[in-house]
Amino acid sequence: MKLLVTGGAGFIGSAFVRRRLASAPDQAVLTIDALTYAGSLDNLAPVAQMPGFGFEQADIRDAAAMRRVFRRFRPEAVVHFAAESHVDRSIREPGNVIATNIQGTATLLEAAREARPRLFLHVSTDEVYGSLESPREADEGSPLRPSSPYSASKAGSDLIALAYGATYSLPVAVTRSANNYGPRQFPEKLIPLMIAKALEDRPLPVYGDGRQVRDWLYVDDHCRAVEALLASAEAGQVYNIPGAGALSNLEVVRRVLRLCGKPESLIEHVRDRPAHDRRYALSGAKLARETGWAPAVDFDDGLRRTVAWYRRNPRWVARALAAVGGDGAGSGSARGAG
Ligand code: NAD
Repeated sequence: MKLLVTGGAGFIGSAFVRRRLASAPDQAVLTIDALTYAGSLDNLAPVAQMPGFGFEQADIRDAAAMRRVFRRFRPEAVVHFAAESHVDRSIREPGNVIATNIQGTATLLEAAREARPRLFLHVSTDEVYGSLESPREADEGSPLRPSSPYSASKAGSDLIALAYGATYSLPVAVTRSANNYGPRQFPEKLIPLMIAKALEDRPLPVYGDGRQVRDWLYVDDHCRAVEALLASAEAGQVYNIPGAGALSNLEVVRRVLRLCGKPESLIEHVRDRPAHDRRYALSGAKLARETGWAPAVDFDDGLRRTVAWYRRNPRWVARALAAVGGDGAGSGSARGAG
């Protein structure tokens, strides 16, 4: 299958491309990515020599470039990961996030409309459902109640993608996954930021009381779910991809410290993020029923692998942080999950 992957130099997209080409090196996989601060060709180096690998630096907001990519490559399927993916950045600079996530997705869909792939898989997030009281879980029909510019931009792009399906018969499906973690995640997101701080014996800034609950999904499990849906997703459908375990941010940070062999005294509670959602929770019943997928990596195992990777790759972290002026945490500010 000729596959077009957007955002394939980022955290999840690159894990997906590496996985895909490792299992079928001849399969044509074209990655397009604008290579923002969050994208790096280093993430694709392990598969860059494979016969099926292709890469083009391109911005999904660029209509002419998107048309050109579709006309030349003629993909049978598209997996759309490209996005501005960080909640705190979306609060600081909403315009950029809205432009890429909403306008960029619309531009990509418009190019796809002409090229008519067999499937356009739009990758989204549990954050579109907003905060849920325990023990509620969002299913695919739950209302969208995003509260940050990031989650609102993702909800907007989900709706535009589904509207292209309904209006133009473009076979679109939407995935909404829980919080991901794993190797090569940019060190501004909760887990890699906390690992990077802990390894340097620096304070770990935790938003508010740290009792915000997230459901954690190891990145390879997310990629397996996307692969299963590439084979079986129905046009017009939404599929939740839940994590392997719900934990408070504070508990996640404690486990990071334990694995790094550092004291809990490094935890520093700082002022909470505005409109910080307290709890995300997904029902994965539909995905399990239709594909048999279940997460294979439990949180402690995944976290061990992740800490080990960051320990082994200080230069990757240094290069990533250099791209944003040196510190994933910014000037004394803190990070939550997402
Ligand atoms: P990331 O920030 O690591 O990667 C995003 C990639 O998109 C980068 O390589 C970046 O260069 C590229 N990009 C950004 N703007 C672009 C543009 N205008 N044109 C082309 N490329 C552009 O993000 P990620 O964590 O890998 O997330 C991938 C997707 O999964 C996103 O759509 C995100 O909303 C979604 N998602 C992420 C999580 C998570 O926990 N990380 C959870 C659920 C859903």
